[in-house]
Amino acid sequence: MSEPQLDLQPALMQRGALLDGHFRLSSGRHSDRFVQKFRVLEDPALLEPVAQMIAARFRDAKPTVVVGAAVGGILLAYEVARQLGIKAIFIEKANGLPVLRRGFAVSSADRVLVVEDVVTTGLSVREVLGVVQHYGAEIVGVGIIVARAEQLFDKIPVYALLNLPMISYDAAECPQCRAGEPVTDPGSRRA
Ligand SMILES: [Zn+2]
Repeated sequence: MSEPQLDLQPALMQRGALLDGHFRLSSGRHSDRFVQKFRVLEDPALLEPVAQMIAARFRDAKPTVVVGAAVGGILLAYEVARQLGIKAIFIEKANGLPVLRRGFAVSSADRVLVVEDVVTTGLSVREVLGVVQHYGAEIVGVGIIVARAEQLFDKIPVYALLNLPMISYDAAECPQCRAGEPVTDPGSRRA
């Protein structure tokens, strides 16, 4: 299979998935960059080559199932799994805890590829890993569209298509606030 050709960062900026400005994050901190992940996930013409790069990276690891976290991870997991010819399932919250529902199952016979759209703290991926490991499945790797931190997960192969380390400031220390630039609220991160 030929290597997919996609210059991701310009493609994300063109779709409005990667915004430059002055943003108030859901944490309350300020940043000059914001990732609107659904501008990628809503567009099959972009999500297909994105998923192709993740699928190509992990194909030789012979995963048997792709696991994502609701909501964005459902879409990415589906497209990666479609290209690998395997199933896609997802983790969701029940009573505040990450679980497999809907009859989804993994077992110790499974080799799991975990995917996530944007990883900032890694909490969501760690929850997925925890559930998968609870069932004794082997994790072959984590595929990420945009990683906003480094050194996310020990002892697991991580492949991020784009590394954009998060730089954020306490509002009182924000250089853009000091420069008098109006701050915008890009909306709920989980929307
Ligand atoms: Zn600011």
